[in-house]
Amino acid sequence: MMRPTFKTCPTCGSRKIKLATGDYRTTTRGRSIVIPDVRRHECPTCGEILLDYEAVQQIEEARQGGRNPSRRSSRSIKRGA
Ligand SMILES: [Zn+2]
Repeated sequence: MMRPTFKTCPTCGSRKIKLATGDYRTTTRGRSIVIPDVRRHECPTCGEILLDYEAVQQIEEARQGGRNPSRRSSRSIKRGA
């Protein structure tokens, strides 16, 4: 069951936060990357995008590895405490 982590927008206080999943665009080291299937919460009132812990992890991993398909991803990922 999909349950929003954020209920109110920290920027404008709106309670209309909605959960969305899709491509997330960001830049790393001067180039832009697109991370597919990132779950985030969007505020339709002010346009704020909120990322939960998992989404942040997903983006960080993509930033480390970039989009180079030849890079091996077999190494285990350390999870913080
Ligand atoms: Zn807002």
